[in-house]
Amino acid sequence: MDLYEYQGRELFERHGLPVLAGGVATTPEEARAIADRLGGRVVVKAQVKVGGRGKAGGVKLADNPEEAVARATDILGMDIKGHTVHKVMITVTAEIAEEYYLSYLLDRANRTFLCIASVAGGMDIEQVAAETPERVAKIAIDPNVGVDLDKANEIVATAKFPAAVADQIAGIAVVLWRAFVAEDATLVEVNPLARTAKGDVLLLDAKVTLDENAGFRHPDHEALVDQGSVDPLEQRAKEKDLNYVKLDGEVGIIGNGAGLVMSTLDVVAYAGERHGGVKPANFLDIGGGASAAVMANGLEIVLSDPSVKSVFVNVFGGITACDEVANGIVQALALLTERGEQVDKPLVVRLDGNNAEAGRAILDAAANPLVQRVDTMDGAAERAAELAAAGV
Ligand code: GDP
Ligand code: MN
Repeated sequence: MDLYEYQGRELFERHGLPVLAGGVATTPEEARAIADRLGGRVVVKAQVKVGGRGKAGGVKLADNPEEAVARATDILGMDIKGHTVHKVMITVTAEIAEEYYLSYLLDRANRTFLCIASVAGGMDIEQVAAETPERVAKIAIDPNVGVDLDKANEIVATAKFPAAVADQIAGIAVVLWRAFVAEDATLVEVNPLARTAKGDVLLLDAKVTLDENAGFRHPDHEALVDQGSVDPLEQRAKEKDLNYVKLDGEVGIIGNGAGLVMSTLDVVAYAGERHGGVKPANFLDIGGGASAAVMANGLEIVLSDPSVKSVFVNVFGGITACDEVANGIVQALALLTERGEQVDKPLVVRLDGNNAEAGRAILDAAANPLVQRVDTMDGAAERAAELAAAGV
């Protein structure tokens, strides 16, 4: 999960890193109140989860609260690389003498952590990295040792930070690492890490990515989720422990096992090319134990997506045999109807593997007019695509 800068700034502050006082506003009037409280010059910064805000005109200085209101009015509602600005952060401004760069990240390729540090930070860091890579230091970090003062000094020396700021940056490097580990982050990036005219080193930007797989260790991270950006069906699926990802097509997909569901997406997309260009509407893996309740939850989620025109249930019986799955489907449809859900979309069901014959017989006996049985994966995908195209 990527954080907004203001959330990253708060996280840094909580860990004792030097950041400037500030607040977040959704309206120009809120921006005025914050600027009033802070006093003096402020910076107004667009809060979007994308880099390059400075170059896009999303970071502006203001000399007084009146100007802060004007800058907030300019920036709120702006589009930055396809992201609409709904919030601005207002902070005290720093008089910047030099801009550095410092980050920690998970280096998946080398199965370790990496520190990237440069004296040439600021808005052109990508260009610096491309044209003068020798100015960007990369230091591997042993996860068992982490960044102690020795390691921090090595970072400072490798990146050639000026002597006057060496101790401050080493101290920051140690605390930033502590924050990185404590929060289970996969990225913390500070650009610029600025030296002010007075000689203080401050973290003036915060890009933080948290590892959602470690969410169970951090109940407080839940509050950082941007509710507005979460798909409501994905949210409901998550509450029901289903692996669901919303896609933009018309054929709802339910399968057991991630691999099977992935290949089902492919076959449906392929079949869709012959049927009006319909595509998979979602990924939904109901997992190994496809009980009636789990099937009902899955069907409920998929059927409540208005863009779904047909549903393809693709099951390969393993530990959970096909007859259980077939009973699950029949009961799930009854359950949903009982719950008053709208159940009116055609379902194409393919059962194969353990007890497939028995499963098919159960579907046939139930004779639900919405359910069509097709026994091959390709055939079923074709049928589901055809039904979706007819329903569009
Ligand atoms: P980004 O472009 O999305 O990375 O946004 P940043 O937060 O890094 O801001 C872009 C640039 O704005 C920085 O590189 C700084 O040059 C400038 N900036 C940010 N905060 C301040 C500040 O407090 N004072 C001054 N003078 N400039 C700032
Ligand atoms: Mn930046």
